[in-house]
Amino acid sequence: LTYSVTASYIDFSAGEGVLVCFDDITPVEQAGQMRRDFVANVSHELRTPLTALLGFIETLRGPASKDPAAQQRFLGIMDREAHRMERLVRDLLSLSRVEAEERVRPVTRVDIVAILESVQKSLEPLAAEAGVAFSRIDDGTPIHVPGDEDQLRQVFTNLIENAVKYGARGERVEVTVHLSEAVPSLRGPGVEVTVRDFGPGIEEIHIPRLTERFYRVDSHRSREMGGTGLGLAIVKHIVNRHRGRLRIESEPGQGCRFIVTLPHE
Ligand code: ADP
Repeated sequence: LTYSVTASYIDFSAGEGVLVCFDDITPVEQAGQMRRDFVANVSHELRTPLTALLGFIETLRGPASKDPAAQQRFLGIMDREAHRMERLVRDLLSLSRVEAEERVRPVTRVDIVAILESVQKSLEPLAAEAGVAFSRIDDGTPIHVPGDEDQLRQVFTNLIENAVKYGARGERVEVTVHLSEAVPSLRGPGVEVTVRDFGPGIEEIHIPRLTERFYRVDSHRSREMGGTGLGLAIVKHIVNRHRGRLRIESEPGQGCRFIVTLPHE
């Protein structure tokens, strides 16, 4: 807890006194700390690829200037690092955009089943590369919700991409859509989309922190997979904007379930 203390001298009619006022400024202090942590994290995340790029530029100018094979190898690494920076900047912009819009309710009507179909199609090459097959359990009947199409596409892209990246090779990723007449947490009808993988899963202690910016269970694995550590933070903000809920369930060794529930129109 952080307090701001102010004391004033008061001339009471019956005598003199001092008025001491304690203000709880913990939330202000916490918000300031979060902002400082975020800036420090962003700087660190950008500095790592930048240092690599600067180092390789030096090497290309110096020791490798007459070695075409080394030049090609270093250019490959520089390309990867530059793309890493590009993904990070793209996700930071997405995050700031969705944060700015979080209080504005989406008004358009979108078909969640069509969005899932197109996301799945666009991730087919990534899944094929990882030896993962998709299975969808619905009959293709449209299900409409009030929503922002691009943002919902991003939610399911991030979740399905994670399931492919962190799931088990050769296993399937299951996407199910379920309509419910009464969802208690939404106080009304809801659409529940579950993205399930059969990978190593996530230990319980990590689950509440997964939607924090830059929180990773295994940083090395995430970076190797091209992750920015911002995907689930973006998902959480978009789901909040849609007045929905995100639930994460996992048992180590049994894979994960990411469940998004959105109010049905
Ligand atoms: P990243 O860019 O690192 O993938 P995310 O915010 O999307 O960032 O995810 C945060 C972390 O949550 C990941 O680094 C990973 O450790 C963990 N994670 C996300 N999805 C899964 C999953 N399906 N299985 C196991 N771990 C996961």
